[in-house]
Amino acid sequence: MDKLIDSDSIKEFRRLIEESADIVLTCHVRPDGDAIGSTLGMMHLLRALGKNVTVIIPDKAPGNLSFLPGFKEMGVYTCHPEFCKKTVESADLIICCDFNTPSRQDSLAPVIQGATCRKVLVDHHQEPDNFADLMISYPDMSSTCELMFRLIAGMGFFAELDESGAVCILTGIITDTRNFFVNCKHHDLYEILIRLLEKGADKEMIVKEALNTRSYWSLKLEAYALSEKLEVFPEHKAAVITLSKDELTRFHYEKGDSEGLVNRPLEIKGMVYSIFLREDADCIKVSARSCNGFPVSEICKNLYGGGGHLQAAGGEFRGSLEECYRKLVEAMPDYDRYLKNQKQ
Ligand code: 5GP
Ligand code: MN
Repeated sequence: MDKLIDSDSIKEFRRLIEESADIVLTCHVRPDGDAIGSTLGMMHLLRALGKNVTVIIPDKAPGNLSFLPGFKEMGVYTCHPEFCKKTVESADLIICCDFNTPSRQDSLAPVIQGATCRKVLVDHHQEPDNFADLMISYPDMSSTCELMFRLIAGMGFFAELDESGAVCILTGIITDTRNFFVNCKHHDLYEILIRLLEKGADKEMIVKEALNTRSYWSLKLEAYALSEKLEVFPEHKAAVITLSKDELTRFHYEKGDSEGLVNRPLEIKGMVYSIFLREDADCIKVSARSCNGFPVSEICKNLYGGGGHLQAAGGEFRGSLEECYRKLVEAMPDYDRYLKNQKQ
């Protein structure tokens, strides 16, 4: 495997782990498979090393990840704030996984940022804020889980990674690459897959549970969104889907039900980017995907103060769904310049 991670970072990470007895792992709000996979995967590894480890997450994780070993043990800040605060305060080390700026932790951010112990960031998002003592940021990685695997192997802890840890880490790789469909050009990723299969991770089960299992209403919502709410802008090679609170209620919306919807318009031949606007409790949640190197992260950053990855990004808009939509459509011509080199 190529040595892509700076050896000083690996040494420093190992030293911080060895010096710590109580370790907290944490991730971003509305956690996905990579956020939960990387925190729980590292939890299993650190427990095998004899550490006292707790995963603290900002809000509830989606039910389709409940098959992950350790899922029920996670401390959810919105449910048990006092427990989470106490655990963070008594930690010797906090490992921040899969986010690049404190605000991605919502109301948990001040708790984590206020902790006086040392912090490590392990992440693959662009342009991280410098908020940890040790910043391990590799935006070229497919997933935080791939990065975590490389760190575990680099620190010499591969033997301690058990089946539970392997299942968690493979889940993050599978969800962030959509089962080796995007961001998986580097051949090392397949070697990592082999190592995780050898540890006993069941790929078929993970793909079924994490990617291909949904509720009846989630499927109906996607069918409705595609048949009634998909709008295509051929001159900009763009597609937009909007869903209002009323529409979501009509389909008995639950968190995670629209996961994956934003990818669907990219199946249309010639489509380069897709943006999904969902009316949430206190904001419009923006979710964006693109192909062929179109920088959809720029749109999320410039219009909605968000970010993420070049081809998978998001943001939040304070205002009405209509305003959010208008802002996007009016800005589309500004991004036509990135379409020039698009392959068809
Ligand atoms: P998703 O569309 O799955 O919610 O998010 C896609 C990517 O964009 C993820 O990597 C996520 O971390 C990032 N992202 C989503 N929402 C936001 C946001 O509000 N702010 C920033 N900075 N990144 C986001
Ligand atoms: Mn990720």
